[in-house]
Amino acid sequence: MHEVVNTQNCPLCGALHTYNLKVETTPDPDTRKLSLRQRRRKFAGAFFCPVLGKQFRGSATLLLSPGERISGVTVVGVEKDVPVGA
Ligand SMILES: [Zn+2]
Repeated sequence: MHEVVNTQNCPLCGALHTYNLKVETTPDPDTRKLSLRQRRRKFAGAFFCPVLGKQFRGSATLLLSPGERISGVTVVGVEKDVPVGA
């Protein structure tokens, strides 16, 4: 299991929010043969805007080690960032 920090520009309020994601992985022997390097995988799911209190559909790029497969991603936390230049 990995904890991943993802920062993204909110499509609802325009500010940057920082999300803590919990990534669950399971062993995947097939991918170990295919790749010896870390792989990137895009995750799309529901994120929460703390300013407006609404959900939006966002995405995050996750890094996977060889021999791993993602079995689940959970957004466990969000921080409201100070807008750049403020
Ligand atoms: Zn927002």
